[in-house]
Amino acid sequence: MQIVIASKNIGKIKEIKSFYYDLPEVEWLTFKDFKKFPDVGEKGNSFLENARLKARSISLYTNKITLADDSGLEVNFLGGRPGVKSSRYTGVDATDKQNRDKLIKEMENVKKISDRTARFVCSAVLWDPEKGSIFETRGVCEGFIGFEEKGTGGFGYDCIFIPTGYKKTMAQLTQNEKNSISHRGKALRALCKFILTTPNA
Ligand code: IMP
Repeated sequence: MQIVIASKNIGKIKEIKSFYYDLPEVEWLTFKDFKKFPDVGEKGNSFLENARLKARSISLYTNKITLADDSGLEVNFLGGRPGVKSSRYTGVDATDKQNRDKLIKEMENVKKISDRTARFVCSAVLWDPEKGSIFETRGVCEGFIGFEEKGTGGFGYDCIFIPTGYKKTMAQLTQNEKNSISHRGKALRALCKFILTTPNA
């Protein structure tokens, strides 16, 4: 079975493949296996909508089953922001650092950690060019926004996100620890189970 990963993000492709290392029945294809690979804008209002848009476009273009995910951070105090705008919170060319600084500034008057609740969310979709969406899943990791950056691992908002039950930020966990509790880890494990248990998925 061949599955196309609908992303040009090398880090994300590596992370997705690492989850499925024990799935020899799947041959993963990426943008490198195709002459052209469309850029799909994240125009949806939800992670699921964006994941569907990406999966559908790439599946119709490649004519193959395609996996897409969309993820981000929702902060309760900010009414769910940055949400689908997580990667471009300060603008289209925003750096992760600029986005984190904006978020920390917006939260500066929220002094109690219990009022700083947030969650990482990841929606993943598997799209068949003939059948449409054949599997959709959502992984969530609850936690809190810290008062300052801590740790050097991970990416994005990891160094200011403290998962529930931990005294460290996501950026202070090992990759394996992060995978075991993360939004993406949960979504990709559910997808893995679907692929393994669904004949001719
Ligand atoms: P996308 O799924 O590639 O669109 O990612 C959206 C953005 O959400 C990223 O650029 C990060 O800012 C944020 N994000 C998503 N997942 C994570 C994570 O695991 N750690 C930290 N930030 C994340």
